[in-house]
Amino acid sequence: MSGEKATKKPDALNDDFKSVRRMKEIMTNYYIEAKTANEQGKMVAWITSGGPVEPLIAMDIIPVYPENYGAMIGASHMAVQLCETAEQMGYSRDLCGYARSDIAASATGGGPIPGGLPRPDFLVCCNNICGTVLKWYEILARYFKIPLFIYDTPFIHTEFSEEAKQYIRQQTFDYIKFLEEQTGKKVDNERLKEVGRLSVGAIKLWQQVQDTCMHRPAPMTAFDAFFHLALIVTLRGTQIVIDYYSELLDELNDRIARKVGMIPNEEYRLLWDNLPIWFKMRWLSKKFASHNAALVASTYTNAWSSTVDLIDENDLAGSLGLATASIYINISIDRMISELGQMIKKYDVDGLVMHSNRSCKPYSLGQYDIQKMVMKEFGIPTLIIEADQVDERNFSESQIETRIDAFMETIKAKKK
Ligand code: SF4
Repeated sequence: MSGEKATKKPDALNDDFKSVRRMKEIMTNYYIEAKTANEQGKMVAWITSGGPVEPLIAMDIIPVYPENYGAMIGASHMAVQLCETAEQMGYSRDLCGYARSDIAASATGGGPIPGGLPRPDFLVCCNNICGTVLKWYEILARYFKIPLFIYDTPFIHTEFSEEAKQYIRQQTFDYIKFLEEQTGKKVDNERLKEVGRLSVGAIKLWQQVQDTCMHRPAPMTAFDAFFHLALIVTLRGTQIVIDYYSELLDELNDRIARKVGMIPNEEYRLLWDNLPIWFKMRWLSKKFASHNAALVASTYTNAWSSTVDLIDENDLAGSLGLATASIYINISIDRMISELGQMIKKYDVDGLVMHSNRSCKPYSLGQYDIQKMVMKEFGIPTLIIEADQVDERNFSESQIETRIDAFMETIKAKKK
């Protein structure tokens, strides 16, 4: 699915947050640590964004996210060149832009980090986000000649059978066994419990951070949340994440107390669906702000907190699988509509903006059906923007501007 831009802040409206500076420091230190991991006797694992990071943290392995790097590449306007390099290597333009960017960056050392990402010792691929990652990580395993662990999560159509639950539970035990083989040491169960506690604590804080946007005016927007998401994805299970979101929450609550909204004259509230368009964050945030519209929530940032109730912090290994399998894009359209309905009510939104993302088929498939159902069941206007998370060749500014203007006129007329 995705990660988040790290060492360079995306072009959003969040410049005056103190936490933005703190995030920059944390992510810079994180990448320096990962780049020098082998000198410190530590291993580096590349992992997909929806994968369970906690066992890596518990075993002192540094997790690195190619999707995170994909977001950085997109925001740095470096994706087209890398995607074209991948296409020259024989990969189809129809493949996810993160996969194309990362494959090309791995081969050339390209992207915003000098020399590219730190070289992995092994790979962890979880297919709860898509099937693309399976082939992508197989390519990486062949390229680097390193082991690959596949954490398999069946799709949830309605509910899981007991057999499916047992199967997913076993994935975590197999995963830990794989990590023990790679590191040559046994997992410390007390440490795993501690990481579970920190992980659940951080996820709950992340939910509270997002929920500050239930207030009017919202103290931040989804564009800010796309940026602040980085730590819950990458370093979940560490104290750093707890401290970071606690400070951010204080900052947001202070804004609420002072009635400071991110959009100065917030009149309309919108919900965003799908990944951000990383290379157009500032343009989009300004465009919606020009209509006094705040994007107060997104299904994307919500995906890293919506399954927290399924995690038992005292039995992390036993409960992590079900939570991992239950994320937003691994569930049926009916369940997606139910989650969207809850968010529409919770954040009291006037409209839904859906990014039909050419890169991310699993997130975008079904959006036209969801759009019809949302309009029918919840009676709010919806907009579909056809674009791409990183590949700027799939973005038509004038067409999208016209559609946003027309959508906002519909919302304004409805609210009169
Ligand atoms: S296809 Fe979607 S879920 Fe898969 S890696 Fe790309 S953006 Fe992520």
